[in-house]
Amino acid sequence: MAYRTDENGKYVRTVQCSECWEVGHNKSKCPREKERYERAKLEDPDSWFVKNYERKKAERSKRACGYCREAGHTRRTCAYLKSDKVATIAKNKQWRQNVVEFFNNLGLGIGALVEVQRRRAWGDKPKQVVLITGINWANLTFRNMHERDRAALRARPMKDFSRETAVGLPADPAGVVNDAGSASDGLHVKVLGRVSREAIEASVPAKWLTGEGPEVDEMFVDDYGKPAERYQITWVDQ
Ligand SMILES: [Zn+2]
Ligand SMILES: [Zn+2]
Repeated sequence: MAYRTDENGKYVRTVQCSECWEVGHNKSKCPREKERYERAKLEDPDSWFVKNYERKKAERSKRACGYCREAGHTRRTCAYLKSDKVATIAKNKQWRQNVVEFFNNLGLGIGALVEVQRRRAWGDKPKQVVLITGINWANLTFRNMHERDRAALRARPMKDFSRETAVGLPADPAGVVNDAGSASDGLHVKVLGRVSREAIEASVPAKWLTGEGPEVDEMFVDDYGKPAERYQITWVDQ
């Protein structure tokens, strides 16, 4: 790794060639190395240097893509990865439009008064009335609608307003934003004091409805933080 200065005079990391010591390319892309190969090939096409250069070049092009496992390209240039990201963003965009509609229908937004009851197999917890104080927009993707640890809403209990609590996405009987059976079956949510459509729509962050965001990139990383492979991207048509 080497450093060069960019147009603003800032130091940026860059690759340095171990062949010609120029920065900006590595040995495998070195124009001087390539010239050397072409000259050597004219002199002796069977020389060790020529054979070695060709073998390395062939290996590079054979190496499988870390995403789709096909040979001949890398994850960075993978057309499947590009189109899968586009499809994922489109799916998230549609889902988020549905969520806003869902919130509008319920009158659920910041300032709403909500009755919450967490249900347990061994007996329901007592009902609790809370005031919705925030929406965790980044947590709201079509992928983690079932994850209770990624709470959709922030709230404060009316009886203990100093305490902050989390409320999951309510179950959707229409099955559009989540399926009523599995999503929030541990949670009963009833809106007692509604918020207006205008207020709900005004609270939606501008970029959120595009479906884009770092939370989409997170979907392409596996549980160990490694770049995911295509077979793990189960929500796109393959
Ligand atoms: Zn070079
Ligand atoms: Zn690929």
